[in-house]
Amino acid sequence: MTRAAETKRLLETLGCVVDGGDLAVHSPIDGSRIGAVATATMDEIDDVLAQSRAAFLSWRNVPAPRRGELVRLFGNALRAQKNELARLVTLDCGKPLSEGLGEVQEMIDICDFAVGLSRQLHGLTIASERPGHRMMEQWHPLGPVLVISAFNFPVAVWAWNAALALVCGNSVIWKPSEKTPLTAAGVQAIFEKAVANFGNAPAHLSQVVQGGPDIGAALVADPRVALISATGSTEMGRKVGQVAAARFAKTILELGGNNAAIISDKADLGLALRGVLFSAFGTSGQRCTSLRRLFVHDAIYDSFVGALKSASGSMAVGDPLDSNNLAGPLIDEHAFAGMQAALDEARALGGYISGGERIAMQGVYVRPALVEMMAHDGPALRETFAPILYIFRYHDLAHAIALQNSVGAGLSSSLFSTDMRECEQFLSAEGSDCGIANVNIGTSGAEIGGAFGGEKETGGGRESGSDAWKAYMRRTTNTINYSDNLPLAQGVTFDI
Ligand code: NAD
Repeated sequence: MTRAAETKRLLETLGCVVDGGDLAVHSPIDGSRIGAVATATMDEIDDVLAQSRAAFLSWRNVPAPRRGELVRLFGNALRAQKNELARLVTLDCGKPLSEGLGEVQEMIDICDFAVGLSRQLHGLTIASERPGHRMMEQWHPLGPVLVISAFNFPVAVWAWNAALALVCGNSVIWKPSEKTPLTAAGVQAIFEKAVANFGNAPAHLSQVVQGGPDIGAALVADPRVALISATGSTEMGRKVGQVAAARFAKTILELGGNNAAIISDKADLGLALRGVLFSAFGTSGQRCTSLRRLFVHDAIYDSFVGALKSASGSMAVGDPLDSNNLAGPLIDEHAFAGMQAALDEARALGGYISGGERIAMQGVYVRPALVEMMAHDGPALRETFAPILYIFRYHDLAHAIALQNSVGAGLSSSLFSTDMRECEQFLSAEGSDCGIANVNIGTSGAEIGGAFGGEKETGGGRESGSDAWKAYMRRTTNTINYSDNLPLAQGVTFDI
């Protein structure tokens, strides 16, 4: 069966017919055309926004635990079609099938989390300074939530947002990456099955709008969108953030990373080697949390980097549907050009490169690249979305942490060490400045229970677990006077 025929069959199994359109989709696996979708027109966008607002006005009055029931049904619908959706993810974005399955599992996990949350959207009660008064906080639904997603997590990122947004009483509009529109169509079909089982959800509760950056920009600018949750490059976030700020819209920005790991001379080196290899070269370096910079202690530098070279040199790269391969293709030729430009720049700075060559096969496949750098400079200071790991020697942990923190992005970081003092230093206020700081695991592969996101140029947003749900609601502070007097706060008098 051709990739196109398999894609069509998978979409039909999910309950989705994609009619074609101007936006052609090519599978990164071999570059072949696997389908096409239609870019939304401005009139269609206007309809979607009006429908989303109407759905919100109805959904916000449905009790939160009942809203959780829809998310529970959606999680079950995902369980029933996990294999088909995971395969579609792999065809659409090229990640290994085991990671496609992991991505759908992450959708199921966040549904479970959100169902529990639907009975825990608590506010506080607060002691009032005034006699006969009571204060409390309530959390209310916000409005239509726009989710803009990137190609590399084509379904999980939407689910992190949508599951929380829905239990919080909001409607959802999804603008997926123009590079992976088919998975969005498939997920929408699964969602509609859950809506049908639920029975009385408002129409248009969650909708997909296909198209590129201009379509995303039109949605961001519209005042009917209450919250914009945008995942993608820092460049995209800078534009979205400015437009949103101009109309005081709420945002969750989940942007680029330039993640680092530090390998202490007191590390468990076998464990560190596996952690580094998965973080740096899993998903072909195309995760926001991919490891891009490695600081290795001088005392173990030669042996550790030698082991890294030999392991990465023999890493199986190829068809992501073949379970023998640990990494698949880059998303497109543009990504390959970006990788080669970064390697050229590193070479010009005296960097010593192992790997990085193109593998002769259909699609854009590359060998992982290790680059031993003379100085912490040049391309190592920015994110290149490809499997490149820049390596540096260090002597002093505080200096390695300072270098780690000296870049624009602040997403993920890790320290490999068995020394408790070093670990606590890394996690302390003078340690890593990232939203994610790990010990003895790599920088990538987060679970949904913790809040996910990063500081500085990573945008500051948090999604998924912990109290990330609060971003999808509005807080009201209520003061209730049950006395027959009207004392003013701070002892102010106003006697008439
Ligand atoms: P991208 O920035 O090219 O596109 C991401 C999305 O933003 C797409 O849907 C795109 O159409 C849309 N977009 C682009 N410009 C826009 C604009 N001006 N207005 C509105 N929408 C716009 O990113 P990509 O190449 O798809 O993904 C890779 C990037 O995403 C990397 O930088 C990676 O680190 C980042 N990423 C971050 C996270 C995170 O959680 N921090 C997760 C995944 C990916």
